[in-house]
Amino acid sequence: MKIHTEQEMINFGKNFAKNLNFSNEPIILELIGDVGAGKTTFTRGLAEGLGIKEPVTSPSFTISKSYAFDDNKTLTHYDFYRLPDPGLMQEDLEDSIKNNHIIIVEWADSVSNILPKNRKKIEIKLNDDNSREVTIL
Ligand code: ADP
Ligand code: MG
Repeated sequence: MKIHTEQEMINFGKNFAKNLNFSNEPIILELIGDVGAGKTTFTRGLAEGLGIKEPVTSPSFTISKSYAFDDNKTLTHYDFYRLPDPGLMQEDLEDSIKNNHIIIVEWADSVSNILPKNRKKIEIKLNDDNSREVTIL
């Protein structure tokens, strides 16, 4: 799917959120794409779609950020960019998988061994004309 503007990416994230069905199993999304592709922008739209009022910002420095929604649910957003060894954050991620309703991971390479196999992967490619190609893998 082709996404032309930042606002379209936000709207795509919002719509994606509306189609999620929460059950006992956590929803795990792995976002794949270069720096600046729009992974965090997509997450911002998704969070908005879940009713999260707090603006989503990149968790690059803190590695993870959590947001509450629907009274009793939690979204945790991870970014393992340039972190070849996630160390203690690996346990943090495992706890999130046990306790959270939705987990979004950017740069998941160093933790892919502990992410459930049935996670959804979304790839965002930056085109030369600045549009984005989004593929749900
Ligand atoms: P990532 O998390 O993949 O590194 P970000 O979402 O933080 O990327 O940054 C994407 C940047 O590109 C933002 O500054 C955003 O405004 C800009 N941008 C321009 N066009 C688009 C688009 N079509 N989709 C997503 N982001 C876009
Ligand atoms: Mg990002």
